[in-house]
Amino acid sequence: MSAGAFNPFQMAQSQFDRIADVLKLDAGTRELLRWPLREYHFLIPVRMDDGSHKVFRGFRCQHNDARGPCKGGIRFHPHETIDTVRALAMWMTWKCSTVDIPLGGGKGGVICDPHHLSAFEQQGICRGWVRQIARNVGPVQDVPAPDVMTNPQHMLWMLDEWEAIHGEKGPGFITGKPVGMGGSLGRTEATGYGVGYVVREALKILGIAPDKALAAIQGFGNVSQYAVKILNSFGTKVVCVSCWNQKDQTSYTFAKKDGIDVDALLSITDHFGSIDTEKAKAMGVQVLPGDKWIDQEVDILIPAALENQVTGENVQRISKRVKLIAEGANGPTTPEADSVLHERGVFCIPDVLANAGGVTCSYFEQVQCNTNYFWPKDEVLSKLDAKMTSAFKAVHDLSKKKNLYMRDACYQISVDRVARACRDRGWV
Ligand code: GLU
Repeated sequence: MSAGAFNPFQMAQSQFDRIADVLKLDAGTRELLRWPLREYHFLIPVRMDDGSHKVFRGFRCQHNDARGPCKGGIRFHPHETIDTVRALAMWMTWKCSTVDIPLGGGKGGVICDPHHLSAFEQQGICRGWVRQIARNVGPVQDVPAPDVMTNPQHMLWMLDEWEAIHGEKGPGFITGKPVGMGGSLGRTEATGYGVGYVVREALKILGIAPDKALAAIQGFGNVSQYAVKILNSFGTKVVCVSCWNQKDQTSYTFAKKDGIDVDALLSITDHFGSIDTEKAKAMGVQVLPGDKWIDQEVDILIPAALENQVTGENVQRISKRVKLIAEGANGPTTPEADSVLHERGVFCIPDVLANAGGVTCSYFEQVQCNTNYFWPKDEVLSKLDAKMTSAFKAVHDLSKKKNLYMRDACYQISVDRVARACRDRGWV
């Protein structure tokens, strides 16, 4: 990585170091938690549609499993790096601990761009990924899930390969599967809805009526789409979303002062997730440059795309009206931007809490697979709401009691739980 380039793992380690100082963790515990317990790098040869073979690079990092099997998604991304996967695996450990589910943290990735791969080639990558690591992942070892640019179909191909290798059914191996094939109702909505539940709780604390609040969201993927829907159901208007346009290779912000209509936008979104700019204009939606989501005059800002989006360079563009930031993405705010927001008194719901709805529902999916009994959607969503709300309250109570920024309170609770599990097991 070139000097000065953003390195998410360095960011994750420095966030951890700060909390380790506060918690006065001993040297052994620090060294253990600063790094993944295990990581795997492998090659995935795939026969392409034109008969040639292409070799993709795959990763899996198992950051910590003191509280339970590792858990976390697999990303398909052309710019995937081992340090991004390491950071994301560490954040999964803190995320599972924040919502107090009996799972550790892991993350996987493949350097590839599904935009340029046929369904058959994507299936080859999924099966190849599992073949390389089948012995080191499984329901009681490490449980993958969808993440950036992976979906329920990918999960099912991976499950099928794992079951073929092991010669047994094992639906608890992977979560985010299609409903009817071991998936949980509500899993698709879970991350976005979870963002909505904690935003609702934060608005109560800030004394802002949800039907008076305006929100701006970066992204228009799974998290963003369902965050818009749940916020709308509370009466909150979302004035813009942004997305990457595959055709133009650029991103745009889609804005409407009286609130975007998510279903209308979805009807003009292609299977790559790009919104048609001309059709959007015809609907009366303003099409602005991709970075305009950040300087909207709103109360709530939700970065729900990728890491490293709110930085020292653009943080000053955030309007003074913004009172609340909910991190739908993993690691969207750099430490430099974070200290500016902290000083400004912005209420921040950190990623490991705000977007924990996905993994919480994945945990419910595992429970349902293990008992072979599937719950109705209402039951899944009400359990999700209860879990997210109680995690939010625990973090907020500590932040009030000790006068801490929400991110610090969240990390103190989650890191302390993991450190304690390592100590109780006699590891350190
Ligand atoms: N990829 C999601 C995350 O970052 C979900 C992980 C899971 O369900 O295991 O939280």
